Amino acid sequence: MKKTNQPKTADVLITADRTLMSDHHGSEFLGFATCIPPYPLRTSISKSLFFPPIKNTQGIPRAAPYGLRKIEATLLKNGLDALVVDPDHLCRYLPNTKVLAISVMDPFGWGPASSTFMKILKKGDVFSSIFFKKILNSKEVKEAKENGLKILVGGPGVWEFKHAPEFVDKNGIDCVVNGEAELVLLEIIKQLVDDNGSDLPKFLDVPMASTPELEEIPEIIAPSINGLIEIGRGCPRGCKFCEVALRKLRWYPLDKVEKELIVNTKNGQLTGIMHAEDVLLYGVKGVNPDLDKLVPMFELFAKYYTKGTEWSHTSIAAVCACPKAVEKANELFIHGSSKPWFGVEIGIETGSPSLIKRAMPAKAKPFKAEEWPELVEKSLGILQDNSVVPACTLITGLPEEREDDIIKTLELLDDIKKYRALIVPLFFVPLGRLKDRDWFSAEETNDLQKELLKKCLANGIHWGRDLVRGYNKGHVYSPVVNRSLLAFINLLEFIGKRKHLV
Ligand code: SF4
Repeated sequence: MKKTNQPKTADVLITADRTLMSDHHGSEFLGFATCIPPYPLRTSISKSLFFPPIKNTQGIPRAAPYGLRKIEATLLKNGLDALVVDPDHLCRYLPNTKVLAISVMDPFGWGPASSTFMKILKKGDVFSSIFFKKILNSKEVKEAKENGLKILVGGPGVWEFKHAPEFVDKNGIDCVVNGEAELVLLEIIKQLVDDNGSDLPKFLDVPMASTPELEEIPEIIAPSINGLIEIGRGCPRGCKFCEVALRKLRWYPLDKVEKELIVNTKNGQLTGIMHAEDVLLYGVKGVNPDLDKLVPMFELFAKYYTKGTEWSHTSIAAVCACPKAVEKANELFIHGSSKPWFGVEIGIETGSPSLIKRAMPAKAKPFKAEEWPELVEKSLGILQDNSVVPACTLITGLPEEREDDIIKTLELLDDIKKYRALIVPLFFVPLGRLKDRDWFSAEETNDLQKELLKKCLANGIHWGRDLVRGYNKGHVYSPVVNRSLLAFINLLEFIGKRKHLV
């Protein structure tokens, strides 16, 4: 029989927007730039600088966001025909497919980082939103929709659709699934395909009873972007403004994680990201890190990712409670790595112990909330001594926040500016247990909050330059990317000076 180059198709196509289907040049920090509007750079420049397309073969990406890989594994394991496809190549596969499943992180730019940048810059939609809408508005999707295609949306950003029900109807989205979908996905797909989805609600909140147990979460079967692998789900700290705080805490056993490490390394991935809401709490039910549980997990990652491992998130309190864990990570992950430092996201949120008590009661545990500013400074010192660079979030505009809290945060910013860290300011967004509260609007920004934003910008310019100079060491394209990033920082500084912001 004559061979053709006709790409294979599948009943279910899984995709995500252009900003997510990227390795961000191997730096998750650059992923923050997908939360800005196309300003001051053009879209094409921003795309090549911050979210270049992941390599693909006939539209099938060589690596994909971890969440998509989990959906793919769930469907394939249960005998469904599913394929992960790059968003720019959907046209090849759509004509014969039945369901298009789109994973979203921030579909309207209303997430904390995007909405903050949108409100400050006032330049319209952010990249994550632009590229998500581009999928739905494409000629191919519209045509397929007319021919019966069903559209399913899931992922961490689906809460935004609850604020835009008319968008869901207008754009032919058949079902929006909010929560961990492993146990409900098959039934949803079955209903969409066999029964036209007529009995499905437009918004499906996965109930706690349908949250999968560890053994019900399948391992990925194809590589994840930047080698990211989850080691657990949930967080015990219970911050009022956080969706994750509402989820069940589970930690994966070593053998489960190892299976995914093998998938990634078999495909040539030698660096990776250990993902959890607080990596240093691996294996424990409370808030005291356990070195005996952590070290075997670190050693497992070091065995497979011989060129370095980063963490997705950890916490100020866990770093202070177990500095030895950070030292061990330095020993195992920096040695032999192509990078001079590794990054992690960490929540400072405020400098005010009083606000910590009111809105984030377990944030400082096992320490006291009163110690918060000292804990922040101590943890940044520990991280710096061990070549870990944190991207720290600060939240302002919380319903509980008073002027005195912001003054405490400003004082803290002065105390910590000597530490190598990026500080990302975020306006409050109603999520978690505060989901019914009012949004914070930029017009409400008072002088203290403006001062806070200025300090964060100055800090970002100062340390951004320092970090870019040493980043991506070893990649052939590093010099070009680094020069472009430095030029971008210079441009930000120029604009900031003209507007008297720095
Ligand atoms: S520590 Fe972070 S992940 Fe955990 S509840 Fe608080 S904000 Fe959420």
